[in-house]
Amino acid sequence: MPVSLIPSRLFRRYDEITPEVLRRAGITLLLSDLDFTLAPKSCRTPDQALRDWIASLAAEGIQVMIVSNNRSGERVTEFCSGLGIPFQGHAGKPSPKGLLAAMERAGASRVHTAMLGDKLLTDMLAANRAGVLAWMVEPLGGAVTVWQKILHALQEPFKAVCRRRNRKDA
Ligand SMILES: [Mg+2]
Repeated sequence: MPVSLIPSRLFRRYDEITPEVLRRAGITLLLSDLDFTLAPKSCRTPDQALRDWIASLAAEGIQVMIVSNNRSGERVTEFCSGLGIPFQGHAGKPSPKGLLAAMERAGASRVHTAMLGDKLLTDMLAANRAGVLAWMVEPLGGAVTVWQKILHALQEPFKAVCRRRNRKDA
């Protein structure tokens, strides 16, 4: 089981992941973290931009599922209600178990799955351990607290490795 923290690919925001990007990578199931990935933590309901993005993926047959560690099931339930996508709460990332359960529910194999998130120690590690593509976004709403700024800085060297690898492969 690989325990790498290195993301497979970096994006600025979730909406850079278009149906075309997914098609090229052979992805039919996009698992995604919620807080700071699809919305700032303070945002209780999805905005229109997020709804439109999910609709654009669904129109191309891409399944999106939220895999969240959020301890409040209520937060994820409230956010996802009306969004029309399923979620796997209490995912226990960096354990891969939540991702594997979501893949099982969606009927998707590892090679057709990517995990999107903003944190190396949970999202990217879980993705690498599950053997799926580890796609990383910048924290939505930016790093606000001191701790978030420190975390952001600590993640930078790992993201730099990802950039170097992708340049080499290009
Ligand atoms: Mg997050």
